[in-house]
Amino acid sequence: MKALTWHGTHDVRVDNVPDPTIQEPRDAIIKVTATAICGSDLHLYNGLMAGMQPGDVLGHEFMGEVVETGSAITNLKKGDRVVVPFTISCGHCFFCDRRLYSLCEESNPNADQAAEVMGHSPAALFGYSHLLGGMPGGQAEYVRVPYADVGPLKIESELPDEKLLFLSDIYPTGYMAAENAHITPGDTVAIWGAGPVGQFTAHSAWMRGAGRVIMIDRREERLELARRKSRVETLNFEQEDPYQRLMEMTRGYGPDSCIDAVGAEAHGAGDPEYQQRDADSSEPNRPGVLNEMIRACRKAGTLSLPGVYTDQVDGVLISGLMNKSLSVHSGQTHMQGYMPSLFETIEQGQIDPSFIVTHRYGLSKAADAYAQFNAKTDGCIKVVMTP
Ligand code: NAD
Ligand code: ZN
Ligand code: ZN
Repeated sequence: MKALTWHGTHDVRVDNVPDPTIQEPRDAIIKVTATAICGSDLHLYNGLMAGMQPGDVLGHEFMGEVVETGSAITNLKKGDRVVVPFTISCGHCFFCDRRLYSLCEESNPNADQAAEVMGHSPAALFGYSHLLGGMPGGQAEYVRVPYADVGPLKIESELPDEKLLFLSDIYPTGYMAAENAHITPGDTVAIWGAGPVGQFTAHSAWMRGAGRVIMIDRREERLELARRKSRVETLNFEQEDPYQRLMEMTRGYGPDSCIDAVGAEAHGAGDPEYQQRDADSSEPNRPGVLNEMIRACRKAGTLSLPGVYTDQVDGVLISGLMNKSLSVHSGQTHMQGYMPSLFETIEQGQIDPSFIVTHRYGLSKAADAYAQFNAKTDGCIKVVMTP
């Protein structure tokens, strides 16, 4: 089959690889009908993540049709339409029992090695580093889905793929980011990053009762989309200083909650213009967003971090974090707990998640699609590929 494979920084290729096969009784094989590129894929594309190997099949946002099931699978059958969550969870360990699915202790065969390298033992994710299980991803014609009795959400609706695909990651991720921001009714919420995750975070902040939502980015077309679709106020950090402006907007208190929907790229890694700036900087690991959030957040407020960090970040303003009584709530999304109820919001017409799709490619053009999504030019906000 054809699949998108990683070969190094900014080097991804569509290769012929062996078709996946059932390996465990709880597996299913899915024929992929739609797959998206995520900001989390960019950390791999930009070489920020340890444990990648040439030939790894990428992709963790995908949906499709069941073509084969293992002997223990009774919830799915051939022909079923499914959206698959990006996290792989066994459903029965200490953490899965507590619905903390992205902390599953069973799904990652390389968890011990990861603990040595990364200081923690993550669950397995599709299409990610070998430290996170090295599971082939869904930017491919077919994909093996382990624990298919726990992960995939069966869809019995005629809604098109583009309205459902983002249940695989970024809609639940935006929702959990807003939940983790501990919003009380009427609160002011500031979100750094108006990418796909930031867009769903803004929508979800209103769902969680925010009174005011402010978004910070430098990409005008992303800020414009957030204004149009989520009725937020926006702030371009290349035109005004976020800290100063946020203080003016909140009578000097600062936002009640601050959300980092940027992550590892927050210090410019991956963005060619910022790479040059970083090369000229005496602070190569500049924790821009984290410190801006710590400084700006109202005392006793909450920082929510959906943005993914792949390594330590030096120079974090820990004194501000501690002395301002700030809370931090973070994590990879506990997907399986959110997918059914967020599906309902789509089916009932409360949201059409396809509003973020700006670019579409066939899988054969996946290398172009990655370059486009990483560059964030030509109005590109979210890319969907069809095998
Ligand atoms: P993206 O790269 O498309 O968007 C990031 C946005 O941040 C861009 O619009 C960029 O212009 C903006 N940005 C860069 N530096 C900034 C700064 N200093 N201040 C404000 N904005 C800045 O990525 P995405 O797909 O929206 O994903 C965002 C983050 O969420 C990534 O780190 C990704 O790995 C993470 N993520 C986490 C989970 C999870 O489970 N927690 C799931 C999916 C994605
Ligand atoms: Zn993702
Ligand atoms: Zn588990």
